[in-house]
Amino acid sequence: MKKETVLSGIRPTGFVHLGNYFGAMRDWVRMQEEYDCYICVVDWHSLTTHPDTKELQSNVYRLMGELLAVGLDPEKCVLYVQSDVPEIAELYLYLNMMAYKGELEKTATFKDKVRQHPNNVNAGLLTYPVLQAADILIHRALKVPVGKDQEQHIEMTRNFAERFNHRYGEIFPLPQAFSYGGGLIKIMSLDGTGKMSKSANQMATLYLADDDELIRKKIMKAKTDSGPTELHSVKPDYIENVFGLMKLVSSEDTVAKFEADFNNCVIRYGDMKKQLAEDMVRFMGPIRERAKAIENNKEEITRVILRGKEKARASADATLQLVRKAMGVNYTG
Ligand code: ATP
Ligand code: MG
Repeated sequence: MKKETVLSGIRPTGFVHLGNYFGAMRDWVRMQEEYDCYICVVDWHSLTTHPDTKELQSNVYRLMGELLAVGLDPEKCVLYVQSDVPEIAELYLYLNMMAYKGELEKTATFKDKVRQHPNNVNAGLLTYPVLQAADILIHRALKVPVGKDQEQHIEMTRNFAERFNHRYGEIFPLPQAFSYGGGLIKIMSLDGTGKMSKSANQMATLYLADDDELIRKKIMKAKTDSGPTELHSVKPDYIENVFGLMKLVSSEDTVAKFEADFNNCVIRYGDMKKQLAEDMVRFMGPIRERAKAIENNKEEITRVILRGKEKARASADATLQLVRKAMGVNYTG
């Protein structure tokens, strides 16, 4: 039986962080065993907010290295770069005719980016969800493992696909956002002001490349307060986040101890953060070291990129033929 197709992507905009890892990459590594997985470094998407391309090449190579370091295997999944697959741009063009200005302007990520980059509100930024839809639909993917911040984009992808199918015939299955845990994940930044991110909140984001001392320093500065004064209080967001991180990297006993301390109003956040920092260092250290080793092997990464390109283009071309035929934009048979 043919395996279900999976697509996900990541922008080469900076260093990979814990949100990328737990929100998406961890699932990719698991999914490559069970699905037909396409994992894409989406360099065109980074141009919407990062027009300076001086560091693009090194960012793409480092990101590829990090993807291999967390366990993606080019034997088991198709690992490629978006701009190597021009078929995506053609599908983006067709889908743009099915996307409306009003809905694009209302997208939460668009509004966020307008706030962050008020002097560069370009059309690419507005149509970001359309390009993302093309990334997904070009392989006719069914599952899209992403973090919570991408949920709305996947919903928009379904809308564009439905409109296409309605107008031109059933070409696209309707994809769903996916996470093994059920609910999509959002890792907040350590200062409690937003999500961890490659291109914002850098001192409040834990990057997989951070050295042990920096990890400790950032965690010790994580936002906390003087502790609850009533038994079994509801946790504020930023405290919930520290517990959330602990659940990801510490033992169950450790989490249970601090949960009990919180409920009994005897929690010492300094001790909790010290413990979290040590567990985080233990978790992140080996990934960082693997990434460093692979990153220096440029030739190997080039081979991975070329191999991914070939497989991704074959799949993309097959879809595009169906699309052109359905639309009647093929004139010579
Ligand atoms: P940028 O700030 O440049 O947009 P980013 O950190 O948002 O970078 P993306 O490349 O946009 O990273 O997203 C890659 C994947 O990581 C997506 O699936 C996204 O949902 C997920 N992701 C990003 N940040 C978080 C987060 N804080 N928590 C959970 N998942 C996240
Ligand atoms: Mg992002």
